[in-house]
Amino acid sequence: SDKIKLGIIGYGNLGKGAVEAIKNTNDMELVAIFTRRDPSTLQISEPGIKAAHIDEVEDYQDKIDVMLLCGGSATDLPEQTPQFAKLFNTVDSYDTHAKIPEYYQSVNEVAENSNTTAVISVGWDPGLFSINRVMAEAILPSGENYTFWGKGLSQGHSDAVRRVNGVKNGVQYTIPSEDAIEKVRSGSNPELSTSEKHNRVCYIVPEDGADKAAIENEIKTMPNYFADYNTEVHFITEEELKRDHSKAPHGGFVIRGGNTGDNNQIYEFSLKLDSNPEFTASVLVAYARAAHRLSEEKQFGAKTVYDIAPGYISPLSAADLRKNYL
Ligand code: NDP
Repeated sequence: SDKIKLGIIGYGNLGKGAVEAIKNTNDMELVAIFTRRDPSTLQISEPGIKAAHIDEVEDYQDKIDVMLLCGGSATDLPEQTPQFAKLFNTVDSYDTHAKIPEYYQSVNEVAENSNTTAVISVGWDPGLFSINRVMAEAILPSGENYTFWGKGLSQGHSDAVRRVNGVKNGVQYTIPSEDAIEKVRSGSNPELSTSEKHNRVCYIVPEDGADKAAIENEIKTMPNYFADYNTEVHFITEEELKRDHSKAPHGGFVIRGGNTGDNNQIYEFSLKLDSNPEFTASVLVAYARAAHRLSEEKQFGAKTVYDIAPGYISPLSAADLRKNYL
């Protein structure tokens, strides 16, 4: 078929979401899922999907157009993206904002040298929120940008707490402050510190005999993820985690309080998501279309959402977009 052929590396929440997201397209198909674990142990929801070990990935170089990298940002992607951008066009959702410049550099070098296109850090934040922050600011240079996350479960931060020593399992919720949002919507452009805008709440299942105080301290002092926030850590049982915390809702707001002349202009973009991984994976899949097209045009190297025109992520032609969507 002439469908765009996709592969998935890493079968966690995002990898599972990607299987769902690909099903919703007419122009893309899934060739195989690759994992570091024994592939026969993966519980894949759809029958007939090939699961293979990650060591076999090289055999698929001419069978896959774009690889969706669904590993975690904390430790998987910094290693996996440069490794697999050597062999494939890639799309990933690397979300450690503070480290994106160095991540871009390491991926860009490999992709340029290998004639591949690597779309990095897409999803909703970074991703759709990033686009809206820049649009709002370009259009309303006089003003202030605000981003609020949640209330929701943050995969990036949950991933990070699960990697802390002594943690068996855990989740992290980000909770925006209602007061802060109302102040911003009023157009008063308040000065808000990071911890005034959100709180972070963690529910942790410790390993047997783990030092809870040490876990709490390691989480609360973790740079980029928790150190700057008001962070709560609660210890719960595995049963409680399953019962109360198995959904992955999320969302948030990008708001710019701008002004022109004597007028306030409020720009607001928001998402309300029942499933963060299925939505994020849907963004990855749409950008896989862009990665494929850019690579066909020999636009190699690492790309972010700022480098990719919106028409590239749509299955429609430029002519159809002009006719039906302008
Ligand atoms: P997971 O922890 O579910 O999965 C990460 C990796 O861990 C998988 O690729 C998988 O690799 C391995 N893994 C998963 N389940 C198991 C298991 N049961 N046992 C052993 N290993 C397992 O992370 P998510 O999929 O939830 O999130 C991935 C990343 O997506 C996050 O780190 C975050 O950075 C990013 N993200 C970005 C967003 C954005 O807006 N930009 C939004 C949401 C998430 P393998 O199959 O090789 O074992």
